[in-house]
Amino acid sequence: MLQKCTVCGYIHEGDEAPEICPKCGFPKDKFVTLSEEDAKKIFDSDRTNDIHMEIIELAMRIEKLAKEGVQINLDPPCVALFKQAHDEAWVIKQRGKAEIAGHVAKGKW
Ligand SMILES: [Zn+2]
Repeated sequence: MLQKCTVCGYIHEGDEAPEICPKCGFPKDKFVTLSEEDAKKIFDSDRTNDIHMEIIELAMRIEKLAKEGVQINLDPPCVALFKQAHDEAWVIKQRGKAEIAGHVAKGKW
């Protein structure tokens, strides 16, 4: 079962809500038990949200590497490829964030 803090939205897994919310500190009476349907959305999207976050992390790594490559400035085609990789990584990162934001808006998080 999932319990949701009605103050901040924190999700707790278990039959009972925690004594205090780990995020906002309000007491357990602020928690409600999610319906099976709402809980299923959260369980179903758990792994895909993690994958999106991992892809975002990888895109951030590409951005960092590409910046380093641009700074080395070996030759124009090389610099152009790094700039392109940097821009593509930005798109991957922002696309992933937008997808996660869409999931959250639909209760899938
Ligand atoms: Zn809370």
